Amino acid sequence: MVFFETISNPTLEMIVPASVVSLAHYVGAIVIIDNVFLPSVFSNALKLGADMVFYSAIKHIDGEGRLLNGFVLETEELITKTLEPFLKHTGGLMSRLNAWLMLKGMETIDMGLGPSGNCH
Ligand SMILES: *Cc1c(COP(=O)(O)O)cnc(C)c1O
Repeated sequence: MVFFETISNPTLEMIVPASVVSLAHYVGAIVIIDNVFLPSVFSNALKLGADMVFYSAIKHIDGEGRLLNGFVLETEELITKTLEPFLKHTGGLMSRLNAWLMLKGMETIDMGLGPSGNCH
């Protein structure tokens, strides 16, 4: 497994995913990218070849530092073979309060994204 941040926190060093992904896949490793500092609005790490991508929801979705949550994006195969069994056995699910706080944070997510408010 190769794990890296596309833009590191706090040193802001950048890694170009394509070169790391091709080297990792060449030796049979899966690639996990922490893309918190380069959200998918700016970089689609799965399209760049990552097998799994992490996002912290506390920063970009909640925005208030009230909860600990995140997102994992990955291929269908990794979800069914790795993530789902792990979650079923460890109980890694979002509480109802955290889900509500996330929804409250999403109410203002388009503020600051310009007149269209389009973040797709
Ligand atoms: C903040 C941060 C995390 C951790 O996110 P939490 O939701 O607070 O656990 C992970 N990676 C990077 C690059 C971050 O900036």
